[in-house]
Amino acid sequence: AKRKYIPKMVSGDFIGAVAMTEPGAGSDLQGMRTSAEDKGDHFLVNGSKTFITNGYLSDVVVVAVKTDPAKGAKGISLVLIDKDMKGFSKGKPFEKVGLHAQDTCELFFEDVKVPKENLLGKLGEGFKYLMTELAQERLVVALAAVALGEYMLASTVEYVKQRKAFNKSISEFQNTRFKLAEMTAALEQGRIYCDHLVQLHNSKLVDPAMASAAKYNMTELQCKVADECVQLHGGYGYMWEYGVARAYADARVQRIYAGTNEIMKELIARKILK
Ligand SMILES: Cc1cc2nc3c(=O)[nH]c(=O)nc-3n(C[C@H](O)[C@H](O)[C@H](O)COP(=O)(O)OP(=O)(O)OC[C@H]3O[C@@H](n4cnc5c(N)ncnc54)[C@H](O)[C@@H]3O)c2cc1C
Repeated sequence: AKRKYIPKMVSGDFIGAVAMTEPGAGSDLQGMRTSAEDKGDHFLVNGSKTFITNGYLSDVVVVAVKTDPAKGAKGISLVLIDKDMKGFSKGKPFEKVGLHAQDTCELFFEDVKVPKENLLGKLGEGFKYLMTELAQERLVVALAAVALGEYMLASTVEYVKQRKAFNKSISEFQNTRFKLAEMTAALEQGRIYCDHLVQLHNSKLVDPAMASAAKYNMTELQCKVADECVQLHGGYGYMWEYGVARAYADARVQRIYAGTNEIMKELIARKILK
């Protein structure tokens, strides 16, 4: 399975997706119901997933399944499901508020025969793999939040310099200057914090609570910056042709996916109260 998928995923010929969320199990991942029954040389997979990024375009999907429903987290495994496997189908891409450049859809599994060689890692270790690897995903979300915050701030700086009201540039109003200063100060702090975490991550020193704190902190900042930047653009900030409007719509989901910010706070609290 490794030889079949990894080279093509690296070259970009195969698009991958990771499917954990189900209609009845989002934050509470352990409540997932998609099952993989052991049938000797294969697993028989039944169930559905929702909100899957790249789901519609995917060639191969890492699917979290229950291999032992009696065991809770220890009964969860990961299997690779190919787009050509019989019984696997995809819903239409959802119409999202933002992130229109990527697809998000539902996936359905009806008696899909998945060869045993498509089990990723060990049986029953899926939840552990997800918890370990999701830290990197959360760090990526935090980095994107800072980068998008910087983008919004830079376009707002350009905008306020050329827009005029009351016979002067809106960059001369104290409110504008203070808002820009506040956002610059917060984003500079965020950039240094994230760069530091990336360095630690390269030495495998970032634990799940640290990644959760970064995701929580930086996505809250991104949404605050998005809101302030739209405000400084006035009505133009609400028009789709302005980059800041699109960035505003794209920002909101950052506090929801990759684990909601409430779940991030749970993970931080779990570490400090251990
Ligand atoms: C655009 C997009 C892309 C996505 N991509 C993927 C993907 O590629 N793969 C994938 O598997 N999933 C993906 N998701 C799903 C995403 O991870 C879930 O939506 C998210 O984890 C929340 O689950 P839920 O939607 O079921 O909300 P729920 O779990 O129903 O949560 C509803 C509310 O209750 C709160 N809540 C829940 N439990 C607690 C608690 N214990 N304490 C306090 N508050 C709580 C939540 O924080 C939230 O505010 C994507 C979602 C979106 C919108």
